[in-house]
Amino acid sequence: DTIGANLDRAIAAYPEREALVDVESGRRWTYTEFGAAVDEVALGLLAKGVRKGDRVGIWAVNCPEWVLVQYATARIGAIMVNINPAYRAHELQYVLKQAGISLLVASLAHKTSDYRSLVDQVRGGCPELRETVYIADPTWDAFTAGAASVPQDRLASLAGELSCDDPVNIQYTSGTTGFPKGATLSHHNILNNGYWVGRTIGYTEQDRVCLPVPFYHCFGMVMGNLGATSHGACIVIPAPSFDPRATLEAVQQERCTSLYGVPTMFIAELNLPGFADYDLSSLRTGIMAGSPCPVEVMKRVVGEMHMEQVSICYGMTETSPVSLQTRMDDDLEHRTGTVGRVLPHIEVKIVDPATGVTLPRGAAGELCTRGYSVMLGYWNEPEKTAEAVDTGRWMHTGDLALMREDGYVEIVGRIKDMIIRGGENIYPREIEEFLYAHPKIADVQVVGVPHERYGEEVLACVIPRDPADPPTLEELRAFCEGQLAHYKIPSRLQTLDAFPMTVSGKVRKIELRERFAEPV
Ligand code: ATP
Ligand code: MG
Repeated sequence: DTIGANLDRAIAAYPEREALVDVESGRRWTYTEFGAAVDEVALGLLAKGVRKGDRVGIWAVNCPEWVLVQYATARIGAIMVNINPAYRAHELQYVLKQAGISLLVASLAHKTSDYRSLVDQVRGGCPELRETVYIADPTWDAFTAGAASVPQDRLASLAGELSCDDPVNIQYTSGTTGFPKGATLSHHNILNNGYWVGRTIGYTEQDRVCLPVPFYHCFGMVMGNLGATSHGACIVIPAPSFDPRATLEAVQQERCTSLYGVPTMFIAELNLPGFADYDLSSLRTGIMAGSPCPVEVMKRVVGEMHMEQVSICYGMTETSPVSLQTRMDDDLEHRTGTVGRVLPHIEVKIVDPATGVTLPRGAAGELCTRGYSVMLGYWNEPEKTAEAVDTGRWMHTGDLALMREDGYVEIVGRIKDMIIRGGENIYPREIEEFLYAHPKIADVQVVGVPHERYGEEVLACVIPRDPADPPTLEELRAFCEGQLAHYKIPSRLQTLDAFPMTVSGKVRKIELRERFAEPV
């Protein structure tokens, strides 16, 4: 199916069920209403002269219009380009030009960001950009009013010209390890992936999915939006950007059955003052992904948030994204110690990064994945595509992993994050897990920093539970003594109020490494 055909199926099957709810504004759409709103945007795009294969940028915080643009571009065969709302002029200009965007849909402003003035700054340098439509602005009303000038049956005739292998979306990677790359994805790539992720956690039309994760990232728009609509479930938007209080309120008010987040979001929700007062009893499942989840957090998510069937997913933008997922009835150990097992119709293997030889179960190496989910390529970057996807169509993930005897996969860390101290390979995750249990530590990241003698040494970056009483290096070292091998014990400590994050909620270790390369 194409995304449009799949939506039509849901509309026919569940016409009166809710498809989309925006908690902040109180707006809500049934599947029938949602389909009509998507069509209006699709016709509006046609009225603006957008044709099959044209790139339409979406640069907005989470809002219903984001979702409408996602399905409307798919309906007419345009390629939607997700632009990170945290981008500033320089990065925006890069994406507008790199993807050749002709029409941009943007938020007007959010918090400290004034999107219109940023667009004005770069417009002159982007000759291909013909027009910008702003959400919650007269330009949006004029845009949707344009739908009336296009005959309604154009959508049906266009649908016949689309193939599920057409590109439908360019998504930039999170930029955790460097500059983001634009993965080009087809209907087949992302619709199937959303469908299988939703099916693995048992979605039906009864489910209501709370999405505090950004739509611009595949977690929100594929695992969230497509995961929900491909099963007739409802998308619930708690707030334009992540806010732990708004998230818990949305779950309570909308009786959500599923909640998504990266581990740091769940930590913020669990630590919110008054957390225990929220009624979260409607929750049964949800997805935690993007980075490793500390065991203690998982226990509280299952126990205190009632998410007994919460699932861990592993994936990357380039693979639509998910390739490994825990199952609803997996035990706590598999849900914290592993990222699950491979999804149907996807293959995984673990290879020696130096030789490419497949390793036996239990041995750590580079994780590679293959199947319908592997991207068409990086947009206009054939060399980078060839580095990531080999001639056998295997995606080389850059992550170190091992497969257990039972087929479940453990992520050991990123090849780029591995610390090499005096010839010993150190995986930061192991040390982070251990330090997380220290009573004075709220959150911790471990990185390698340059060291004259050892090449690298271990730096623990710590957010203390009580800023007035941070742990000392001596306390940390004493805590690790006899528990961790001597070379893994941090030799430096840095306390922080917050970590530098990507908008998708991942810690930018590269920034910590750069900032603290020299003792401060
Ligand atoms: P960039 O490629 O630009 O450096 P990125 O790799 O963070 O950024 P994404 O595609 O958003 O961009 O993230 C994919 C990566 O996230 C994976 O390669 C992996 O390192 C990490 N990841 C995803 N899920 C998990 C998980 N469940 N546990 C541990 N790590 C995960
Ligand atoms: Mg990556």
